[in-house]
Amino acid sequence: MMNNTSGMWQKVGGPLTLALVVLFFWGGWQLNRADSVAEGEETTTAVSSPASSATAEPTYAPGVLPILSDIGLAPEPKPLTYQGKLPQHELQTYVVKRGDTPNAIAAMFGIQPATLLGGNPRLSEESNLLQTGFELIILPVDGVLHDVQPGETVESVAALYGVSVDAIIGYAPNNLEFPYRLYPQTQIMVPGAVREVFVWNPPSLESVRGVSWEGRNVRPLVVGTGTFIFPVNSRNYSQYYWYGHRGLDIALPEGSSVFASDTGTVTYAGWNTYGYGNLIVINHGNGHETFYAHLSSINVSPGQIVYQGNLIGLTGNTGQSSGPHIHFEIRLNGNQDDPCWYLGC
Ligand SMILES: [Zn+2]
Repeated sequence: MMNNTSGMWQKVGGPLTLALVVLFFWGGWQLNRADSVAEGEETTTAVSSPASSATAEPTYAPGVLPILSDIGLAPEPKPLTYQGKLPQHELQTYVVKRGDTPNAIAAMFGIQPATLLGGNPRLSEESNLLQTGFELIILPVDGVLHDVQPGETVESVAALYGVSVDAIIGYAPNNLEFPYRLYPQTQIMVPGAVREVFVWNPPSLESVRGVSWEGRNVRPLVVGTGTFIFPVNSRNYSQYYWYGHRGLDIALPEGSSVFASDTGTVTYAGWNTYGYGNLIVINHGNGHETFYAHLSSINVSPGQIVYQGNLIGLTGNTGQSSGPHIHFEIRLNGNQDDPCWYLGC
C-alpha cells in the first residue's frame, strides 16, 4: 500500500507540481489583469479547481511565455567573432624551358603577356628571372594577384588598380562574402588589373652637368648619330624585350667590354639601388638615352662626353641579376623601346 501510494506520487507528482506552479503564476497574472482592465470584465478562468487544471492543456496569454529552464534543445552559444573565408585559388605554375618567350608562354595559357607579370611581381624588377628553370605562376584570368596588406579593403584595392569592387567580389575563388573582409598575408585576384612596370629615370642632363648659361638650360654639347651599335661583342640573348622586361639581356662572361652604343653625354655612372646594379646612362642629345646595367666596373663619370664605340665599362652580375649578363635599354623621350628594333637582333 505504502509502495503503491509512493509509486503513484512519483508518476503524477511531477506534472502535478508543474501544473500548480503554472496555475499559481497564471492566476496571479489574471488577477493583475483584472485590476488593470475595465471593471465588469469576466475573469472566469482565474479560479478553478486543481483537479481540472491538472489535466487541462496549459495556455499562455499572448506575449507571456514560460521561462525556458531546460536548455538541452537551445542552440549552442557562440562568441561574437566573425570568421571570414580565405581565398581558394587554384593556381597553375609553369617552369620556364629553354627557348620560351613571355608571349609564347602567355599564348600557351590563353592569357595576356602582361598577366604573367600580374602573377609574378618580381618579373617587373629588372632581372633575369625568365630563364630556364624559373617557376612562373600562371593566373587563370587576366589580372593581378595582389598581396593583401594590413588595413586594406576591397574598396582600397579596387581603387589601387582602377577596377570595380564587383570585379573583385564577383571572382569566385576570392571566396569573398559579406562583409568582404580581406586578410593580410593572403592574396586576392584582381581581374582586369595590370601591374605597373617599374621605370627608373636618371637625373636630367642639366643637373648632372651642373651648368647653366644666362639662365637657359644648357643643351648637350654633342648629339648622337641616331644610329646604335651593339654594346657588347655577343649575341647570346638571354631575355628579349617584353611588357615585363623593357630591355634586352645579353649573357656573356663577367669582365667583357662594354661600348657606347652611340655618341652622347654620360648622365649616370654608379651604383643604382633599383635593381640595375652598376649602371651607366648616356644621353644622346636627340631624345635618346641608352642604359648599360649590372656592370662590374665603370670607366666614365657623369658629364663626360663619349663617342660611339668608346669603351665605357665591363660587364658583370651586379644588382637584380641572376647570372653574368648586360641589361641594355634604349629610351626615346623617356619611353623604353625595344633595343632590337634599333639593333636588328
Ligand atoms: Zn634585363
